[in-house]
Amino acid sequence: MRRKYILTVALALLINSLAYGKDDGELVDSKKYIHREILPDPGSKSCPEIPVTLTQVSGNLYRHTKGGAYSGFVLITKDGALVIDPAQTCTAIRLRDEIKSRFHTSVKYVVYTHAHFDHIGGGQVFQKDGATIVAHRNAVEPIVGEKLPTAVPDRTFEKDMKIELGDEIVELHYVAPSHSNSLALVYFPKYKALQCTDVCGADSLPFNELPDFYYEGWIETLKWIQTLDVEVVDTGHRSPGTKAQQRALMEYMQDLHEQVLSLVRKGEPWDQIYRDIKFKDEYKKWSGYDNMRILNVLGMYRWVNSHRRGVW
Ligand SMILES: [Zn+2]
Repeated sequence: MRRKYILTVALALLINSLAYGKDDGELVDSKKYIHREILPDPGSKSCPEIPVTLTQVSGNLYRHTKGGAYSGFVLITKDGALVIDPAQTCTAIRLRDEIKSRFHTSVKYVVYTHAHFDHIGGGQVFQKDGATIVAHRNAVEPIVGEKLPTAVPDRTFEKDMKIELGDEIVELHYVAPSHSNSLALVYFPKYKALQCTDVCGADSLPFNELPDFYYEGWIETLKWIQTLDVEVVDTGHRSPGTKAQQRALMEYMQDLHEQVLSLVRKGEPWDQIYRDIKFKDEYKKWSGYDNMRILNVLGMYRWVNSHRRGVW
């Protein structure tokens, strides 16, 4: 039994290295999930009204966008392509066809940045074509548990992973729970480019009430980026950002945390706190200032409240 398992794993590794480039991820036992239940796919109908673009960043590195709202890097190599976050089924089909017609190649790897459906719908489009789906180990449970209508990852990693495809190297890193506990940072050293979805920004306030966030890990992640040789950061949304913008976002989060904690300790209720938070002038110029700032305060208030005890 054990010998059979070892042979199966060895064969899978061999097939992986021959057909799909090379990686040092962990094999997921996908047999377990063949008959899993899935919810209806909201992206299954065609969506011609959502434009899909694929534009060059530098050399073999491209960036796909979906209606300007969602984005991810795409790497085109002589041995196939790597796509980050297909976003949804109807746009994934068009992205797949665009890669085929423009570069005469197919997608060999799809990387999920984290287990939030709005970024990872459409994974099955590429998996059916033979692509290997990669994600952080913690992404498997919510994908299966929430019955998400996308592909279950084929390979996962815990701390770091390396993918070699064509003559290119792609590094995956996990720093800490930040935005979800499965956030993979995808680094392209040759291009000084980093995929940092939802936890990074470009002069923009974080989304809504900071859903599925972990304050300390978020700060740790943004600090880690400061140690990286990086020039372009794709944030998974709208325009790409810079390393300096990630420092600015870190300072925004620290400032918000400090103010909310101080007001909570003074005994202020939530509906007073949001009126008393002072936003620096530079944040007033950021996108989302008008409609996200009160929700950001609410998210931070919830975090602070559930991580303190006071006298008791
Ligand atoms: Zn997310």
